[in-house]
Amino acid sequence: MKKITQSEFIKGYCRKSGISEERWHELGQYAAPCTCGELDCHGWQASSICSEEKEEEWKQNMVHLLEDCMYGGLLQPVTLEGGVLTLKVQRYRLDSLLEKYGLTLVSEK
Ligand SMILES: [Zn+2]
Repeated sequence: MKKITQSEFIKGYCRKSGISEERWHELGQYAAPCTCGELDCHGWQASSICSEEKEEEWKQNMVHLLEDCMYGGLLQPVTLEGGVLTLKVQRYRLDSLLEKYGLTLVSEK
């Protein structure tokens, strides 16, 4: 079966379960890479087991993601007014990094 992205998996899962993506996050759900090898596997599984180890792994991945963003020039400062820093993100490249580190961007503005 075709491998899909993490966000595609979450979208599809929410659609099938009749819940919104907001609700998905409220429930503490996340999509973990799946290595079951089943023919109908998309490469992800829904999980709500949020262990301390998992939290620690996410924190480390977030640091790696931010480092990659800095060194890769994905984040560019646009303005710095009154101590508020506005950054411009190259979204298409950020998506592949989110995918790489198994992280999900919930909101942006
Ligand atoms: Zn699987």
